[in-house]
Amino acid sequence: DKNPRTIMAAGNWKMNQGVPKQAEKLIGDLQAELKGEENSEVVLGVPFTALAKALDTVAGTDIRIAAQNCHFADKGAYTGEVSPEWLARMGVKYVILGHSERREYFAETDETVNQKIKACRHWGLRPILCCGETLAEREAQQTFTKIGHQIKAALAGVPESDLHFLTVAYEPIWAIGTGKTATDAQAEEVCAFIRDEVAKLYSRETADNLRILYGGSVNAANAAGLFGQKDIDGGLVGGASLKAADFAVIAKSA
Ligand code: PGA
Repeated sequence: DKNPRTIMAAGNWKMNQGVPKQAEKLIGDLQAELKGEENSEVVLGVPFTALAKALDTVAGTDIRIAAQNCHFADKGAYTGEVSPEWLARMGVKYVILGHSERREYFAETDETVNQKIKACRHWGLRPILCCGETLAEREAQQTFTKIGHQIKAALAGVPESDLHFLTVAYEPIWAIGTGKTATDAQAEEVCAFIRDEVAKLYSRETADNLRILYGGSVNAANAAGLFGQKDIDGGLVGGASLKAADFAVIAKSA
């Protein structure tokens, strides 16, 4: 079934808790805090090394597991890479793609993000496509140009039917890991813009059904305000997703 526009609380653990036992502990702590009372779809973006353990740990619950990247090829001479086919076959549901840290440090480009979205859809995985502007771009009034370009390039040649399984995460780079959250209005403005861009590329109906997250210093105190905005359907959460009590509050903030 298609992605519903219910609120999603997606944790992005980044390069943390990657020993299987560490992942099992954090998920156990989170489940104890949630007590099944989450009002949102909870997704955990765990390191590759802990995916198998995370999948075992959440088996039979509503928590879903995401990878934080993948390659676009199915297999072959790509030393060190991880195939989307493997992720799909082991039970991973979502893949975070195009995170600004991958774009900055690991040569991810709009073109590779586009190839990875297509590969993920081929294997039935649901991409969480990240986009966002730097502080310099925001100050130079380049935010909409940058985001519009990232969305268009990432979705080039992606059929409308695949949009039902896509989530977009708007993550202003100046807000990631900085404690400087975008205001509700700043986040809403760009998420609404993303929805309008998707309406132009596809259709109003598809845009209205697209799940769009905000990410960048989401925490237990600001999640409810952000998630209450008209075009914001949840959050992609880094630092606060490593604290079970905080992430549980976020997951109940719908
Ligand atoms: P943060 O990270 O919540 O620690 O700012 C968000 C992200 O990079 O996805």
